[in-house]
Amino acid sequence: MSKGPFILEREGLLQLLQALKALGYLTLGPTVREGAIVYDELKQLEDLPIGYTDRQEGGSYRLERRGDGALFGYNVGPHSWKRFLHPPILRLFRARKTNGSFDFESETEPSPKYAFIGVRACELQAIRVQDRVFLGGPYQDPHYKARREQVFIVAVNCTQAGHTCFCASVESGPRAQTGFDLALTEVVDGEHSYFVGEVGSEAGARLLDQVAHRTAREAEWHQALALVDRAARQMRHLDTQGLKERLYQSLEHPRWQVVANRCLSCGNCTQVCPTCFCTSVEDHTDLAGQVAERTRRWDSCFTADFSYLHGGSVRVSTQARYRQWLTHKLATWQDQFGMLGCVGCGRCITWCPVGIDLTEEVAAMNDVPTARFAPKEAGGAHV
Ligand code: SF4
Ligand code: SF4
Repeated sequence: MSKGPFILEREGLLQLLQALKALGYLTLGPTVREGAIVYDELKQLEDLPIGYTDRQEGGSYRLERRGDGALFGYNVGPHSWKRFLHPPILRLFRARKTNGSFDFESETEPSPKYAFIGVRACELQAIRVQDRVFLGGPYQDPHYKARREQVFIVAVNCTQAGHTCFCASVESGPRAQTGFDLALTEVVDGEHSYFVGEVGSEAGARLLDQVAHRTAREAEWHQALALVDRAARQMRHLDTQGLKERLYQSLEHPRWQVVANRCLSCGNCTQVCPTCFCTSVEDHTDLAGQVAERTRRWDSCFTADFSYLHGGSVRVSTQARYRQWLTHKLATWQDQFGMLGCVGCGRCITWCPVGIDLTEEVAAMNDVPTARFAPKEAGGAHV
């Protein structure tokens, strides 16, 4: 796999798409739907959001025209790749009543073979986080595993940062370092653009051999690095120094109530987050009582039902739910999985209907000496 940086023109990108299809991949990537950039099937390059960019702020997302022909001139939208690897609704099994007994059918549909086109560096880290959650322990999720093992990933480095991005603070971007088959940096020149690429796997090298490309000159490689470096310098910041300890010292901080007064407990932040993985399991029967199904659905720590144990919810207040979410992402996740649960994509800030900003909330707690707000005794309920 000793391929160095290469140049791919648009014709080469089209050939890449066609080669993936010929290999049986369902090619997925960014496209415009209902005023947002989402991930869906890419049949042709024209399905990409050509010439669009996104303007993101706390609680606000707008698409705008860039005035050029860039194919990837935007950041991340409401979708993440988890909707394909860890689907929002998944049937686990179906039971049919037959002669007074039940026949059980487990889910036998073959897992789709996905090619993800346009995966950002923060999203590669989010996939690594979910790999750790679903595959890293003694009990592996077979549904996630079957999808994940077949994925082909074409990463695209960000050359501009959204106003809600902070991947550089959590060291997940903006340059894709590992976890891809091919990685591209788009260089835009008016209506024309081309890509400076890197190979990340044997599968990527084999595919590249099938498409028109040439070796990149050193100056072209450095220009691509400079574009990505510019994006890193445009970002907001999250101070991660001693973050886990600071949050553990702040469990009784008054700021939790301040944010709870604004939070709607709607769960939008968990739905758009590329690392949130919580689910609930539901059983349904048909009206005749002949067929029953068990499904797994995305759930959220912001609903009262999610923490319902015998007799009631563990987290009855919005304050407790927001604290659970934020401290899990940034502190307890490190104890549980050995890594941060946040990749700095900024989606939870953009898609929060009241613009609650995780980076602001952490900074606000830093303003006051935190030792005052440590829990009085370990293991107490925080409701
Ligand atoms: S917590 Fe927010 S910024 Fe962090 S990964 Fe989730 S959606 Fe992105
Ligand atoms: S923080 Fe925002 S998105 Fe998350 S539950 Fe509260 S209001 Fe909804």
